[in-house]
Amino acid sequence: MTKLIFATHNKNKLKEVKSLIPSTIELLSLDDINLLEEIEETASTIEGNALLKAQTIYKQTGINCFADDSGLLVDALDGAPGVYSARYAGDHKNDSDNLEKLLKDLTNKDDRNAHFKTVMALIIDGKEYLFEGIINGTITTQKSGANGFGYDPIFLPYGYTETFAEMSSEIKNVISHRAKAMKQLVEFVNSI
Ligand code: IMP
Repeated sequence: MTKLIFATHNKNKLKEVKSLIPSTIELLSLDDINLLEEIEETASTIEGNALLKAQTIYKQTGINCFADDSGLLVDALDGAPGVYSARYAGDHKNDSDNLEKLLKDLTNKDDRNAHFKTVMALIIDGKEYLFEGIINGTITTQKSGANGFGYDPIFLPYGYTETFAEMSSEIKNVISHRAKAMKQLVEFVNSI
């Protein structure tokens, strides 16, 4: 394998993977191949969306590729917001609205356990492979910290005293759901 597309426009995600895979593999982003539009995320599961994005790119380019999708799953809400994490408060709402809605939905709930999940879908020569990363934690009762994005200010990973938004990106990027899924994908790519 010489080329691999990462179905993302996110430069930070790309940089992270680039530093992990052998330099013999040319890693391309959607911007590198001039695919500027967002790929639709119409599946009803995180796995489904990751696969859908990878399949879309593979069909369009015929080049080996992978895509990721993530979400926050809250036990007391039967796994919500899950695949709808980015638009929990509505299609035109933002991270702050989503987070406030979640805090409100958990008012008076004793069980505040939750986990972030990332699925990475890889397509090599038409064969599909899925890799999953999970981090368990609890949802705090109020926001703390200014780093990161999304639900970071209210997610406290098990074993830590700082929310994802209080800890440094160096620590988050080692323990996160995304890092765990990425590690597995990179190990697999390195082994073939
Ligand atoms: P994506 O699939 O990586 O774009 O993630 C979908 C949504 O899940 C984001 O818009 C966030 O709301 C939430 N999310 C995913 N990963 C994280 C994270 O590491 N911190 C906070 N929120 C996240």
